[in-house]
Amino acid sequence: MNRILVTGGAGFIGSHLCERLLAHGHDVLCVDNFYTGNKQNIEGLLDSRNFELLRHDITFPLYVEVDEIYNLACPAAPVHYQFDPVQTTKTSVHGAINMLGLAKRLRARILQASTSEVYGDPEVHPQPEEYWGRVNPIGVRSCYDEGKRCAETLFFDYRRQHRLSIKVARIFNTYGPRMHVNDGRVVSNFIVQALRNEPITLYGDGSQSRSFCYVDDLVAGLERLMATPDDVTGPLNLGNAAEITVRQLADNVITLTGSRSRIEHRPLPEDDPKQRRPDLARAKAALDWAPSTPLEEGLKKTITYFDALLASGQSFPDLSRRTTLR
Ligand code: NAD
Ligand code: UDP
Repeated sequence: MNRILVTGGAGFIGSHLCERLLAHGHDVLCVDNFYTGNKQNIEGLLDSRNFELLRHDITFPLYVEVDEIYNLACPAAPVHYQFDPVQTTKTSVHGAINMLGLAKRLRARILQASTSEVYGDPEVHPQPEEYWGRVNPIGVRSCYDEGKRCAETLFFDYRRQHRLSIKVARIFNTYGPRMHVNDGRVVSNFIVQALRNEPITLYGDGSQSRSFCYVDDLVAGLERLMATPDDVTGPLNLGNAAEITVRQLADNVITLTGSRSRIEHRPLPEDDPKQRRPDLARAKAALDWAPSTPLEEGLKKTITYFDALLASGQSFPDLSRRTTLR
């Protein structure tokens, strides 16, 4: 049994990871400032004696005692990371420095939740880890993309300079239960719009592609990566290689929900990547892992989750219209 810190543990992926680590017998310390996460995501874990929750912003130093650190804290949806871009960069960069400093003091193993966004709007397709990417350094997505790229640099420099045991996962679009209702990401947006019979907001002509990974597959990959020997550092792509256009996704969601929604075109956001698909060869070889949930099955589970949530009648803050920062 390990003592494991999960930063961003009250978020979408973090809450699933905390759940999985607890189920595998570990002690879990969840650290979150509730910027985009919420207590509801982890309420089922609060009664476990092996689970502890700490409200904390990782841009400030943290002094705790753990054996492993999963650094997931960072808003992941474009609407949210662009809302307070300076805080986004601080979370990625200062947050990484603080968590790496903690790992160095404890000699703890540390995993970074990096992203396919380090490849930017890629000219190489699918994206292998050797590809250095095509990122706009001064655009509206840069706070996230460059923040995550700098965090990767810090991880590898802490390894070279301080012999730290690091793991870097480049996560591709992940979806599933506990995404925020007003999260702004495509899967949650389309499902919520379809269930409410509201227009489906398709940005651009919908020909841009993504490859969607169900959250259970992703957290299984993260756990496997953490368990690899010290010489396996990554970066490793984690995701699902089944690629689909955003237009096809809209059609699938409408069919699976039986919705009366119609598609409404909206302008394509600035620097929106045209295509994205992980090359998973390295991950498969290093982890003996592959995603197993087909898109239709994962979408059905996600639809069931949002259906129950919307039926509960609770109100949801519109995170994209916040007037306060946190
Ligand atoms: P999320 O927004 O649901 O979760 C992020 C969590 O981090 C939230 O609970 C938020 O409150 C917390 N947080 C943000 N800033 C913080 C800070 N300064 N201090 C403490 N906590 C803070 O997003 P997610 O989809 O669960 O993403 C988790 C991680 O995975 C992120 O690092 C993200 O960049 C990465 N990632 C996610 C995807 C995806 O498709 N979901 C893809 C690539 C990378
Ligand atoms: N998108 C869309 N409608 C929405 C939300 C997103 O058409 O309501 C598109 C978006 O322009 C992008 C893709 O869906 O091309 C994925 O967007 P998301 O914000 O989920 O993640 P990204 O991969 O861009 O970070």
